Amino acid sequence: MPKAFIDPDKCVRCVKCHAARACPKNAIFRISDEEANVVDMAHCHGCGDCVSKCPVHAVILRDG
Ligand code: SF4
Ligand code: SF4
Repeated sequence: MPKAFIDPDKCVRCVKCHAARACPKNAIFRISDEEANVVDMAHCHGCGDCVSKCPVHAVILRDG
């Protein structure tokens, strides 16, 4: 099953992560204000709803 991945070099740490808001599983979360958001692989079910929501295209689906 594919899983979402957030490229830490692209994520600009939006005040409210558009990708996280689109996730039905609440699988995207913030570790700190200094680090890119991350995907909780245990909760991501690969629906891809988050991918098109990120304005800088930091989110991709890849084989998990
Ligand atoms: S919307 Fe994209 S750039 Fe913004 S915090 Fe989420 S993953 Fe990072
Ligand atoms: S692929 Fe679906 S479940 Fe996984 S992080 Fe994106 S929106 Fe959430």
